[in-house]
Amino acid sequence: MEIKVRNQIIGGSYIPIQTMLKNPVWDVDLSMEKIIRLSKSGCDIIRITIPDEKALQGLKTVIKKSPIPIVADIHFDYRLAIGSIEAGVDKVRINPGNIGDKSKVKKVIECLKYHNTPVRIGINKGSLPEHLKKLHKDPIDIMIAAAKEEIGYFLEEGYENIVLSFKSSTVMETIHVNREAAKLFGYPLHIGVTEAGDLSDGTIKNAIGIGTLLQEGIGNTIRVSLTAPEDDEIRVGKKILESIGLRSSDIDIISCPTCGRTEIDLSEIVRKVKECTAGRVFTKKLKIAIMGCIVNGPGEASECDFGIAGGVDKSLIFKDGKKIKTVHNNDIIEELGLILEEYTKQ
Ligand code: SF4
Repeated sequence: MEIKVRNQIIGGSYIPIQTMLKNPVWDVDLSMEKIIRLSKSGCDIIRITIPDEKALQGLKTVIKKSPIPIVADIHFDYRLAIGSIEAGVDKVRINPGNIGDKSKVKKVIECLKYHNTPVRIGINKGSLPEHLKKLHKDPIDIMIAAAKEEIGYFLEEGYENIVLSFKSSTVMETIHVNREAAKLFGYPLHIGVTEAGDLSDGTIKNAIGIGTLLQEGIGNTIRVSLTAPEDDEIRVGKKILESIGLRSSDIDIISCPTCGRTEIDLSEIVRKVKECTAGRVFTKKLKIAIMGCIVNGPGEASECDFGIAGGVDKSLIFKDGKKIKTVHNNDIIEELGLILEEYTKQ
C-alpha cells in the first residue's frame, strides 16, 4: 500500500527520511530557516510537535512556506489534531496511548476523511494505553494490541490512509515488534529506534535497528532519533540508506583509522573535505582516499579518483591511480580543494 504525503510516497521504492523540528514552531523564522536547510540536505518529511494553540498558529504559517511535507505530532488533545488537519497539514501523527477514547478518535477520523489527510498511528512503548497494559504482559503484545484497536476504529469509518509505527528505545524490541507488524498489517511502516541517545550511541542503535529491518524488506520511511541537532539525524539517516544500497551518494570518502604512524591531522582533513563537498554537485561519483601514511595510502588511493597518503612534513597526492605531486602538509587541504573544483559542476 502506498500513502501519499504531499510530494512523497510512503510505501514505494524510495525511502523518505524524516526528522522532527527541535524548536517550538511558533518561532516561525527559526523553523523556516531550519526546514529549508534540512530540505536541502536530504530531509524529505519534517514532523512538528503541536502541544498547544500557539504552536497551531505557528504551524499554519509554516505549512504554507515549507518546501517539504509537514507532519503534525499530536498527543493528548484531539482538537489540536483537528486544527492541524483543517490548517492543511500534510499528515498527522496520533498516539493511541494518549489521544483519548474512541469518541475522540472518531472525531479525528471524520476530519481526516473529509480532508483526505493521511495519518500515522504512532505506537510508542513509553506511552502505551493503560487498559491494554492490564490485558498483556509483553510490551510487544501491548503495542500490537494498541495498533489493532486503533486500526479497528479507522476500519469502522472505512478510512485506511494509514501509516503505522512501533517504537521502542531497545533495538531488539524495535526489530521484533516491526517484524510482527509487517506480518499482521498491510500498512506502510515508519521505523526507527526512539530515544536512542546521543550521536554516537543513537547512530549505532539506529543503524542496527533500521538497517536490519530494511534488509528484511521491512520499513517504508525512517527517522533516526538522536539527542543531537536535526541535521545529524538526516546525515545519519542518509548514511544508513547509502550503506545498504538504498540511496546513492555523489561522494565516498575512505579514511584510515590513524595510528602511531600518522603524521597529519587526518580528522581535520576529513572534516574539511566533508565541509567542502556538502551541497556541491559533481561531474561524476567521486571516491576520495584520505590515508595517514604510505602503508595503505598508495594502494587505497590508486582505486580512488584522488587521494592523499600522509608523510613527515610532506604528503603524496594521487589522482586516477597515479602519484601527481608531493605537497607540504600545510597545503593538503588547499590542494584537495583545487582537485575538487575540477570535478564540481558549474
Ligand atoms: S594508513 Fe597508515 S596511518 Fe593510517 S592506520 Fe594504516 S598504517 Fe596507520
